[in-house]
Amino acid sequence: MPRPTVSSISRDLIAIGHRFYTRGWVQGTSGNFSAVVSQKPLRMAITASSVHKGQLRAAHILQMNESGTTIGPRRSAPSAEARLHLEIVRRRGAGAVLHTHSIWGTILSASAGNGDAVTIDGFEMLKGLSGVSTHQHAEHIPIVDNDQDMVRLSGVVGETLDRNPRAHAFLLRRHGLYTWGDTLADAERHVEILEFLFETIGRSATFRPVGGEATGHYGAIENS
Ligand SMILES: [Zn+2]
Repeated sequence: MPRPTVSSISRDLIAIGHRFYTRGWVQGTSGNFSAVVSQKPLRMAITASSVHKGQLRAAHILQMNESGTTIGPRRSAPSAEARLHLEIVRRRGAGAVLHTHSIWGTILSASAGNGDAVTIDGFEMLKGLSGVSTHQHAEHIPIVDNDQDMVRLSGVVGETLDRNPRAHAFLLRRHGLYTWGDTLADAERHVEILEFLFETIGRSATFRPVGGEATGHYGAIENS
């Protein structure tokens, strides 16, 4: 496979922005996306701060170095969460990082109370996560408390990734999802799989077995 170039990565990030916006995963100017352009020295392409992901253009894709400083012709600020992207790339060797703010991911991150993780198991869709070959896999997704101090938050994220070496993602509480992959295609697949699972779990919580028993017959709550 040919090595991705900055322009091919830009096109892919723009296309992902359009797709995720239409799915409702990056409303307003939320979310941010990045991909590694080169590992040595580390150079990444990342979405600029405060841009609408459904209206991304090439001018909104910046390049940054290993300390999060913008390099290249475009000098606007990278996403405020650029440090988190760098942390994930360093700790996981990821080639791409995607961050979404979906409704179901936000609800799930809040539903765990002060808990520090959610575990999802038994679903066929788990097999869409890299290295997972059975629905019996238990995906342990850490939840990290949200924080506007990105230096502090990136430290907590780094420790969390080290403590959970098999995790494919983490949630920021009442905020959103971070996932990654070897390539942008892998990271996008992970978003699709995880958002499917979050929505499935969330919608399941609004249904109950008809008659109140676990008969396998699930329906909408009756107006009785
Ligand atoms: Zn965010």
